[in-house]
Amino acid sequence: MAKGFALLGVILLVCAALAGCGGSKQEVLRVGTEATFPPFETTDENDNIVGFDIDLIKKIAEYNEWELEIVHMDFHVLIEELSTDKIDIVIAAMTIDEERAEKVLFSEPYFDAYQCLVVREDEDRDITVDNIAEQGLIIAVQMGTTGSFAAEDIYGNADHPNIKQLKRANEAFMELKSNRADVVIIDKPVAENYIRHLGGMKILGQPFTNEQYGIAVKKGNTELMDKINSALAKMKDNGDYDAIFKKWFGE
Ligand code: GLN
Repeated sequence: MAKGFALLGVILLVCAALAGCGGSKQEVLRVGTEATFPPFETTDENDNIVGFDIDLIKKIAEYNEWELEIVHMDFHVLIEELSTDKIDIVIAAMTIDEERAEKVLFSEPYFDAYQCLVVREDEDRDITVDNIAEQGLIIAVQMGTTGSFAAEDIYGNADHPNIKQLKRANEAFMELKSNRADVVIIDKPVAENYIRHLGGMKILGQPFTNEQYGIAVKKGNTELMDKINSALAKMKDNGDYDAIFKKWFGE
């Protein structure tokens, strides 16, 4: 009898240990992002990754009882890291486009965005997307982004000497501010945020693309994507999305 109880005790301990090591319902999902893209993803004074996207994915995780680990990486490696299972989810103000959709599975769109031109505040040349090439202007962009695709369209190829491909969005603005570039091409809400915080720059003309952001998972992972899409629909319905929007963009 005593032996029986002891055995039961051991079995219970093993079960508890297994539950602690991931046998429990709480899954830890690794979320990849590039945290120099305010207000979507940036770092606070304690180096925590915060932003609109981060609040969004945390709310989605809350509905699904997931635990998240947010990982900062270069934007241009995010899709590859997803394909090789180093991360489970990408949320990085990532524009849904056909080429990317061949490699990953995108959620329903969750944000509308546009590319725009940013120049120094004292810029007085007439600069438009259509005359950048004929003026031979230097463009700074973040590598692998739709801004860099726009620059590629302007100069015919991504390796053109007049295109500076930077790993981080903030580095593109540094190039502009220090006169090593004439124009930054980047998503408008992010341009506005950098201009507000760094000063000395302005947006020129009208935005010239129509884009929508999506959350991405590995191609074929429809089970995870269904949960993300249901959560997105729920939060757009119950006001949680609006609350997060208000927090990061005001009214
Ligand atoms: N929306 C742009 C893209 O998807 C930029 C994203 C980013 O730099 N985080 O390419």
